[in-house]
Amino acid sequence: MSCLFCKIVEGAIPTTPIFEDELSYAFADINPQAPVHILIVPREHIPSIAETDESKRALLGHLLWAAAEIARQKGLSKGYRIVVNTGEDGGQTVEHLHLHLLGGREMTWPPG
Ligand code: AMP
Ligand code: ZN
Repeated sequence: MSCLFCKIVEGAIPTTPIFEDELSYAFADINPQAPVHILIVPREHIPSIAETDESKRALLGHLLWAAAEIARQKGLSKGYRIVVNTGEDGGQTVEHLHLHLLGGREMTWPPG
């Protein structure tokens, strides 16, 4: 099993859990782009959001809920950004679906 985020979910690569439940696991991004930069991943290996079918609808909703829950726990009351980089043009570098939760500073638009 070679997937980096599968190894993190299974504990083979140690990380500090920020949030976890039966479907998801969240941990700090190793190269933070904001004061708060957390990755939320499904425990199940899914390469990207582009490779989800109808059977993943509830899981995808759960991941969004988890991101909002973490934002509440982190006190991001001024706002935050949730990002899902997808595929080559989307800038995805790890092929295990993940949400970025970014906060603690004002974000710019458009993104790069
Ligand atoms: P993406 O470019 O959207 O695929 O995001 C992958 C993210 O994973 C990047 O923001 C990396 O900084 C982050 N990352 C890579 N390796 C690790 C690691 N071992 N622990 C935590 N975050 C990581
Ligand atoms: Zn994986």
